[in-house]
Amino acid sequence: MIEPFEKPIPISRPVLPLLGDFVNELEDVWESKWITNLWKKHQLLEEKLREELEVPYLSLMNNGTTALMIAFKILGLEGEVITTPFTFPATVHALSWEGIEPVFCDIDPVTMNIDPNKIEELITPKTTAILPVHVFGIPCDMDRIQEIADKHGLKVVYDAAHAFGVEVNGESIGNFGDITMFSFHPAKLFHTVEGGAISFKDPAHKEKADFMRNFGIKNSDEVVVEGINGKMNEMQASMGLLVLKMIEEERRKRKILLDTYVQHLEDIPGVSFCLTGSDVVDSYQFFVVRIDESAFGRSRDYVYEKFKEYNVFTRKYFYPLCSQYPHYKDLPSAQGLKVAEQIAGEVLSFPYYGEVTVDDVVKICNILKSFR
Ligand SMILES: *Cc1c(COP(=O)(O)O)cnc(C)c1O
Repeated sequence: MIEPFEKPIPISRPVLPLLGDFVNELEDVWESKWITNLWKKHQLLEEKLREELEVPYLSLMNNGTTALMIAFKILGLEGEVITTPFTFPATVHALSWEGIEPVFCDIDPVTMNIDPNKIEELITPKTTAILPVHVFGIPCDMDRIQEIADKHGLKVVYDAAHAFGVEVNGESIGNFGDITMFSFHPAKLFHTVEGGAISFKDPAHKEKADFMRNFGIKNSDEVVVEGINGKMNEMQASMGLLVLKMIEEERRKRKILLDTYVQHLEDIPGVSFCLTGSDVVDSYQFFVVRIDESAFGRSRDYVYEKFKEYNVFTRKYFYPLCSQYPHYKDLPSAQGLKVAEQIAGEVLSFPYYGEVTVDDVVKICNILKSFR
């Protein structure tokens, strides 16, 4: 019998600067008395993130959900948008909240991202866009998706909430489709307490985004578009400036944890995971395994419950599917999502953050092995 961990091991922990460093950063804010409304820290963070993510244009927002809603407004989306059921509620709710019907497309059995082979059959005269998610930071098949979008005159908005810093063949993940959304919630690798951003190639989109996040206000005499309050404040931006400096070290630590997980889990029958290829720079955002009950001998739910006895708190990410929520379950597209339904019953997200030690990971792997 393996001893339980003395202290609970949660699924994630935010990257936090020293409190003193945060206070130092805030001194400028206190002095200026300008605590929100797109002031100095905001301007600096927006520029630093644009550089970090290597995108032509970027607009900070108060969270990823508002960022998505603003993206849909910029592109004038309406009618139906094809998306994945295997995601965080925000992706699908943002559509619904804007009066757009989400149309669920089944997912790829390996990458767990929207399956490009199943998109075209869902397109109707009402379809205006495709909204794929780079789930767990694994890039979608952007070439195929763009081909389909071009053929049918559709827009593409990517939900890259899990994909901060991901590159594919040297290209930033923020440079695909029409608009890409990032979330800066503390459960994400890079965060600003709450926050988000959208990136674009078109300067007209940038201009619209900046008006829209500030009520549509252009100047003291003009309100030029239908806007909302999407502003990130100076406290959040100050946090972001500090966290940004810590990301490289955090990723270095997580890479070691990832290698340890892989080394100790790869030979267990019924346990699998999707790793990114050598052409991809990883986000190190999540470590998610799949438990195949018939090969492992125990169900995902058994593993999830049993881990709690050892003070290890995993998460069923993503279960239930968005297509199973009461608000969406009766949609025609919510039926028969075979691959997504199977995967939602197998996935389990494991503790994955800099404070976890290699020894902790080895022990977590040994606990998992003992469940067989
Ligand atoms: C976190 C997340 C969001 C939304 O982010 P918030 O910043 O919390 O609004 C959207 N999509 C996915 C896939 C996410 O994980």
